[in-house]
Amino acid sequence: MFDVVLLSVLLAAIAIGFGLGVRYTSRRLRPPSSRTIGLSKEYFVGLNYLLNEQPDEAINTFINALDVNSDTVETHIALGKLFRARGEADKAVRIHQNLLARPALSTITNEHVQLELARDFMALGVHDRAQRLLRALLDKSLSDLYRQEAKRLLIDLLEREKEWQEAFDVAQSLIKQQPGMRRPAAHWLCELAQEEIQQASRALARKHLKKALQLDERCVRATLLLAELEMDNGHYTRAIERLSHIPQQDIAHIPTMLPALQHAYERNNDIQGFETHLYRLLGQAPYTSIIIALGELVHQRDGVDSAIERTGEWLREAPSLGGLDYLIDLYHESQRLSGKTPPDTRLLLLKHHTDALLEGKPRHRCRRCGFASDNLAWQCPSCRRWGTIKPITGVDGE
Ligand SMILES: [Zn+2]
Repeated sequence: MFDVVLLSVLLAAIAIGFGLGVRYTSRRLRPPSSRTIGLSKEYFVGLNYLLNEQPDEAINTFINALDVNSDTVETHIALGKLFRARGEADKAVRIHQNLLARPALSTITNEHVQLELARDFMALGVHDRAQRLLRALLDKSLSDLYRQEAKRLLIDLLEREKEWQEAFDVAQSLIKQQPGMRRPAAHWLCELAQEEIQQASRALARKHLKKALQLDERCVRATLLLAELEMDNGHYTRAIERLSHIPQQDIAHIPTMLPALQHAYERNNDIQGFETHLYRLLGQAPYTSIIIALGELVHQRDGVDSAIERTGEWLREAPSLGGLDYLIDLYHESQRLSGKTPPDTRLLLLKHHTDALLEGKPRHRCRRCGFASDNLAWQCPSCRRWGTIKPITGVDGE
């Protein structure tokens, strides 16, 4: 169904197309000819079809109008975009294919229409046709503007197909010109490294990861994977050294690296070292996950009442819902150990509230589009940016 917004945009597009036809004629000091009149007639017949909600007939009429005056090409491209934006990419394909069948198109317009057609195929999910079209375009001597755009679209396609090496190869020339390409490229290398790790080619994986850090020194994911490789080889001290860089790379990822850090210290039999490290991290960022990890160390070493005391002090400085929930658990434990029965109903009520508040709370959020998820994804499934999803910190975070 055609809505009011589409119709008003179409009217504007048609008016531009019509205006172009008139300007074209007047520039050449010609009196309004039967050609100009024919153009306007065709457009209004097409518009009539649109108003009658007969889009197929409307498309046919607009396509026929192109024979009259090729100045209307941009109007047709705009119409194709509108159809695609409305989820009717098949209609956009018809419009763009018909445009390409016109031999009179200039080279630059032809390139523009082919890019639009590739976008239509992508919207339809026909990735192989879109890829063939883009590769054929890139093989030609494209104008700079359209070359970059064709590469960008091809990279997007290759990412969707998980063709990381090919995406990296296509992007090579762009990486130098566009610093914004460095972060995604580093992540493609991390993807390649993970594939190599699965195939037990650790040396190749390490090579990819080092290259990723050369491209983007703030790539937390590459550092985490390098630390995991060190641990696989039994080099826990080296893993700790690697993980120590993460707060400088991106402080928000401290909660992401804590489990690996704990594992490395435990395997090194160095719980004291872990505690010192946690205090250092707490000085940098008083995140809930650091407070709980420290609380647990105190709990195991000095008992639950010491843990209550220390955790209470830390939470006074940096209150959080997760921290309060942990503190209530500690109080429960203390009462249980002191043989108090039945359990304090006030504590049970508080625990009920914190559980209800924490339930269903996402642990990660995309800093760009706000997409929330429990697990950490390195590419946001919503805005498709790399490295924008991070742990949620603060009062109701990690
Ligand atoms: Zn996002």
